[in-house]
Amino acid sequence: MPETTRSSAPDDFAGRSPVSARSAAAARETADLEAFIASAGTFDAPDPDLNDFSFGNPHEMPLQGLVDALRRGAEPRSIDWFAYKASEDAPRAFLAESLSRELSLPFEPQDVALTAGAFGAIGLAFHLLTDPGDEVVIPVPGWFLYAPILRQAGAIPVEASLDPVTWDIDLDAIEAAITPRTRIVVVNSPHNPTGRVYGPEIWTRLAGLLERASARIGRRIFLLSDEPYRRIRFDGVDFASPAAHYPWTLIDYSYGKVLLAPGQRLGYLALSPLMPDSDRAALRAGAFSTQVSLGWTFPEAIMQHSVEALESVSIDVAEIEAKRDVLFESLTSWGYDLVRPEGTFYLWGAAPGGDSVAFAEWMRAKSVLILPGTLFHRPAHFRLSLTATRQMIERALPAFEAGARFGA
Ligand code: PLP
Repeated sequence: MPETTRSSAPDDFAGRSPVSARSAAAARETADLEAFIASAGTFDAPDPDLNDFSFGNPHEMPLQGLVDALRRGAEPRSIDWFAYKASEDAPRAFLAESLSRELSLPFEPQDVALTAGAFGAIGLAFHLLTDPGDEVVIPVPGWFLYAPILRQAGAIPVEASLDPVTWDIDLDAIEAAITPRTRIVVVNSPHNPTGRVYGPEIWTRLAGLLERASARIGRRIFLLSDEPYRRIRFDGVDFASPAAHYPWTLIDYSYGKVLLAPGQRLGYLALSPLMPDSDRAALRAGAFSTQVSLGWTFPEAIMQHSVEALESVSIDVAEIEAKRDVLFESLTSWGYDLVRPEGTFYLWGAAPGGDSVAFAEWMRAKSVLILPGTLFHRPAHFRLSLTATRQMIERALPAFEAGARFGA
């Protein structure tokens, strides 16, 4: 029997965390979210009495079209069906064509890197483009996980506020956030959490700003257009991608939203075809090794085989829009100050009483789970997910009505 090795570490090692500085920095960015998840129990087994408006998670059985596509994708038709899958030729070619049609831009298959959802694509973009200490401008309020992904890449998130009344992109705020270390500006449309969909005029102006700022700081600022809600829009509102306006744009997309199946990871990072050939070639070449060195972050084989079949599958967007109408009309009639979302499956507004944590706790005591705006660095606001069922909405309306007077 070998002798057990006992630690002989000197005393000054005691108490030092084995966690890297990068992981610790990422953990500080996710701390509020983790605390909310732990206290809310929203990721536990479904509680039939809880009316859950917290995250964009499914609360009904999955789409049959998704199940059928995955079943077909799981049935092997060749020896290499489950072999290592990077960005495979067939789904890449298919996606380049469908994206070209959707955005009226000539994407080539090599412009599309397949990823594990938008998370994977965003992580790929940050690692591919930034060096340690580089700065990335992110929208606030905005998705709460850009910052930890950036910290893990050794990059620094810099917040640019949206207009606090209209939630428009504030170009002055972006301009003020840019420094000689800026590498990427992130935009998100349709926007989580406000549901705003931004039009081509703002992209033209942003493109001009980024062109001038890049020249001023002497290096190229890239634009990351986070578009996972691109197909979830209401009232016939059009979608415009900044990729058609600023050549140095990368688009990230996810199937997790349109399929309402975020546990099945599939997405992509696509380079604007307007990007000059030399930059485009360098990024195309760098994507594969970046994904390999990040730990093989490609979608799994079954998802890759299912891409074509999944193209025509979607949640019922009209039903999400109808739920938006019920909640928006009811809550505003009781005095809530809300943004009428043009897309996504979220509803954003001012928390009655001005303290979203206290308001969320009060609603939780009435079995209604909402997201406090603290998670978006806007503590006086709150977010509702329209993926809650009709039954949840019906049951929660009396609590929302009473909650309109919260803190008064
Ligand atoms: N970007 C935004 C704006 C999001 O809201 C989300 C998910 O909530 C993501 C990216 C990540 O999407 P996925 O989990 O499908 O990768």
